[in-house]
Amino acid sequence: MEIERASEMGFCFGVRRAIKLVEKAVGERGPLQTLGALVHNRQVVDRLELCGVSVAASLDELQGNIVAIASHGVGPEGMEQVRIRGFEVIDATCPFVRKAQVVAKRLGKAGFWVLVFGDAAHPEVRGVLGWAGENASASLEVPHLDKLPRRLGILCQTTQNQERFAEFVAGVISHKSAKFTELRIFNTICDATSKHQVAALALAGRVDLMFVVGGQDSANTKRLARICADTGVTTYHIEAAAEVDPRWLRGHYRVGVTAGASTPDEVIDEVVRALEEV
Ligand code: SF4
Repeated sequence: MEIERASEMGFCFGVRRAIKLVEKAVGERGPLQTLGALVHNRQVVDRLELCGVSVAASLDELQGNIVAIASHGVGPEGMEQVRIRGFEVIDATCPFVRKAQVVAKRLGKAGFWVLVFGDAAHPEVRGVLGWAGENASASLEVPHLDKLPRRLGILCQTTQNQERFAEFVAGVISHKSAKFTELRIFNTICDATSKHQVAALALAGRVDLMFVVGGQDSANTKRLARICADTGVTTYHIEAAAEVDPRWLRGHYRVGVTAGASTPDEVIDEVVRALEEV
C-alpha cells in the first residue's frame, strides 16, 4: 500500500501566528484565557492548556487579567466587552479574518447590505456580521433578495470553497427577484484554504482512499473532507491516529492523507504511521 501526503496541508499562517502569540504571552506573563477555543483542534487546545492557556466558553466565564482573541476573531461588541471588563487583550485574529471584518465594516458604513457566503453559526461569520452592523446576513444558499436593499456587498467566510462562492454569486446576480442597483463582491477566502483545497482535490484524484485529519468542529477540515468525498473517493474524516480502523484499508492500495489548517504536524505523522502499520 502506498501512502501519499497532500502537497499543501496542516498548520496555516493564521493558526501558527495565533499559537505563537499565545505561547509568547503565557511564557512572559503567566496563565491566560482564550475567548472560545484558540483554534478548532482538540490536541492544540489540550497542549496549550498544559502550558497555562485555558478556554473560557463565554465572556461571563473569563477570569484573570489577560484574554486572547481566537484566530477566527470576534465582533466589535465582544471586543468592547473584553476591554470594558478590564482585560488586557492579545488579539490573535488571523489577518485574513481581520481583512473580511474590515471589508464588512466599510460596506456597512457605506450603506450596503452585507451578505456573507458562509455558515451563520460559525464564530468567524458571527464576528464578521457584527462588524458589518445591523444590515447584514449570512447564508450558504441564495437568500430572498426581494427583501434586501438595492446596494449589496457580498463577501465570503475565509474557509469556504472558491467554486461554491462563484456559484453563490452567480445565483444572486441571476435571481429573478434581484433588484439591486449596485453590487460589490469581495473574495475573502484565504490563501491557505485555497491551496489546501486544490492540493486535496488533486490527491483525491490519484488515490482510492482518503484520510482527512482535523477537528470535527473545524470548518476548513470539514470542507476538505467534502471536497474529497465529492470526487467519489472513499473519505474518512478523523481527528487522531487511534480512530484508524484497519478494516477501512482492505482492498485499497493507494491512500491519500490531507489535514485541516489547525492540525499539528505530529498528529498527521501519527496518522501516517498508523496507516503504515496496518
Ligand atoms: S485557515 Fe485561513 S483564515 Fe483561517 S486561520 Fe488559517 S490562514 Fe487564517
